[in-house]
Amino acid sequence: MTAQSAISIEAPVQAPFTGPVLDIRNLVVEFPTRRGVLTAIRGIDLSIGRGEILGVVGESGAGKSLTGAAVIGLLESSGRIAAGEIYVSGRRIDRLPMREMQKLRGRTIGAIFQDPLTSLNPLLTVGDQLVETMRVHLPLSRTEAAQRAITLLQEVGIPSPELRIGQYPHQFSGGMRQRVVIALALCAEPELVIADEPTTALDVSIQAQITALLKRVCRDRGTAMMLITHDMGVIAETADRVAVMYAGRIVELGPVAAIIRDPRHPYTKGLIGSIPSLTERCERLTQIDGAMPRLNAMPSGCAFHPRCRLANEQCRSERPPLMAAGASQAACWHLEREVAHVRL
Ligand code: SF4
Repeated sequence: MTAQSAISIEAPVQAPFTGPVLDIRNLVVEFPTRRGVLTAIRGIDLSIGRGEILGVVGESGAGKSLTGAAVIGLLESSGRIAAGEIYVSGRRIDRLPMREMQKLRGRTIGAIFQDPLTSLNPLLTVGDQLVETMRVHLPLSRTEAAQRAITLLQEVGIPSPELRIGQYPHQFSGGMRQRVVIALALCAEPELVIADEPTTALDVSIQAQITALLKRVCRDRGTAMMLITHDMGVIAETADRVAVMYAGRIVELGPVAAIIRDPRHPYTKGLIGSIPSLTERCERLTQIDGAMPRLNAMPSGCAFHPRCRLANEQCRSERPPLMAAGASQAACWHLEREVAHVRL
């Protein structure tokens, strides 16, 4: 053998992707109607790293669930992504054909919704649902998948999983059913999980168990999670970073600890005022006066100005961009003012 023939030509080895698991750039979601186009998401940028939980919080109508639905490819039929890009582990997914997107759901992106009954088939045993989902996405025999299903049910805290695997969803309590949904979302080992109000339908004590489980799963498996909720208390307990949404935009973004300690946007301050404190006695939780604007009646300038006691002429005419504010970013013209001490 000559020295030349001994040299083997190998395909270049691709370096592992080290960027964010989810990367959303300037996302715009619209709903064309007979009376014109309504813009529900107005240009948001977000990213989530491996093992990270990003909380997306806001009142109903802020656009948080729509953001999750856009990522997962489950926008209502009347909605459309009008601009922007969505990448999962470096792969652009916002323009994938429906069949490609179906393959991605479950395999690369898992989903957990508020009501476990909408995610589970009442006619199939829990074991069959796990086994079928795994076999759609992973090259496993039925026996291998069943074994993994038992391990997974154990991992999410279901006692006697070898017995429970043969039971139907109605034989589980609400908290146990949500654990099954979490197992179902994780069974094909997705890189990203979208969890939309996963604890809202549960008792407070069960909520704490489920948030602890979500945290453990992300830490142990390196799964990235978008945790969508209206409840700042759940965010404080669970997330690493938080994006506060208002009227289709992000109004504050940063580490949870920093934002809970020192909120910069008046809306965030109002949301934090609604968290019950275990240590301090207070007569009444703070509420933000007024309501989220309708899509067809979006205020000029800062969309929060009709509800904000700091609003001035600049707020009413110019929209503030996200600006550096301590450890976070906030979209407010008056960050230098002591918004943390202003009663809303
Ligand atoms: Fe309030 Fe003005 Fe800041 Fe908007 S920009 S949150 S209206 S102070």
